[in-house]
Amino acid sequence: MKIETQAVHAGDRKKPGPPVPVTTPIHTASSYFYDSMEQLDRVMGRTEPGYSYARYDNPSNAALEELMSVLESGHGALACASGMAAVQMAVATALADRRKSVVAADALYGATIGLLTNVLEPAGVAVRFADVWDLDALRAAVDEARPGCILVETISNPLLRVPEIDKIAEIARQAGAAMVVDNTFATPLLVRPLELGANFSVHSVTKYLAGHGDVLGGIVVSDKRHFEALRGLSRVVGPVLGPFESYLTMRGIKTFPLRMERQCANACRVASWLGAHPKVERVYFPADPAHPDAAAIRRLFPANLYGGMVSFEIKDAGREEVFRFMDSLKLVVRATSLGDVHSMMLYPVMSSHREISPKHRERMGIRDNLVRLSVGIEAVEDIIGDLEQALG
Ligand SMILES: *Cc1c(COP(=O)(O)O)cnc(C)c1O
Repeated sequence: MKIETQAVHAGDRKKPGPPVPVTTPIHTASSYFYDSMEQLDRVMGRTEPGYSYARYDNPSNAALEELMSVLESGHGALACASGMAAVQMAVATALADRRKSVVAADALYGATIGLLTNVLEPAGVAVRFADVWDLDALRAAVDEARPGCILVETISNPLLRVPEIDKIAEIARQAGAAMVVDNTFATPLLVRPLELGANFSVHSVTKYLAGHGDVLGGIVVSDKRHFEALRGLSRVVGPVLGPFESYLTMRGIKTFPLRMERQCANACRVASWLGAHPKVERVYFPADPAHPDAAAIRRLFPANLYGGMVSFEIKDAGREEVFRFMDSLKLVVRATSLGDVHSMMLYPVMSSHREISPKHRERMGIRDNLVRLSVGIEAVEDIIGDLEQALG
């Protein structure tokens, strides 16, 4: 079945029945009882499938986990309370029986850099950032660091670089490292990292998957080899998503391929319009034939789907001019997220990359005149109209 069909059907309408509700209800119970203690004993011992306590398992979450596992070609999934909890769980599971060393892409979501440098490193995990767009340099870094985990994003934030996931997965495999891919920006409509050899695909479902700006959540989709360890860790750490958010996320995912296609198409139009605007210095967009990763994008992405994110630099602008531009927006929402149905703009220097030192930001190529636009599902003429009046 195709992803559009899977998005609507997978995971839902499980037993008991008849009658079977057409969508999975919100199961709020924190614990479950059985007619016999014998049976509860088997469930708790996990020799019989079943629910016992909501930190271990919950039917609303199980439906969402099955759905995401299908969309990402995984063995199983864990729904978490945030994207960051999901990143943390994936990395912790990857390192559980491996060397406590991570090689990470040198362009990552700000909080993920924070997790690596402010949490994992002080806890004794060796962290090394590497240029994952230079595979020889990456191989050298991996030979030296001998990591237990390699961590990358399918589309980097906010400069929208695209690494060769399949080749990096091969480097990880040869080094005995697990590969974690944050697939939030690409979504499984564009890329399914486990099909390319990754061991974990992680999402902030807060973004495209839930898609309506009303959920904070994350998910880890795992291969077979790591799934038991992931669930085992979750049972003791308890990062699980609440059933209400689970329901909203599943509801959102049913229309996610439709929304994402529209967002991708709108983003293409917006990016080419911006590219021709005299006040725009530079546009970052994966469909650009001059994109540094154009060959990888052609190879890894489906035709005509380049994601819904467009970043651009405003000519001769500093913080003050960027503030003035963003304050002038009437339709595009100035907010710190992405992937919602409405278009949103963020100033990376002030938000997603605020905690990164100016020197590190500079090294990453994130300049003071850079803004990041998450293109929504509105009529593209209206989005462009708003940008046009705000650019002045
Ligand atoms: C938002 C985001 C996260 C963190 O997700 P939360 O749901 O905010 O915890 C991680 N990675 C990427 C790429 C993101 O965009």
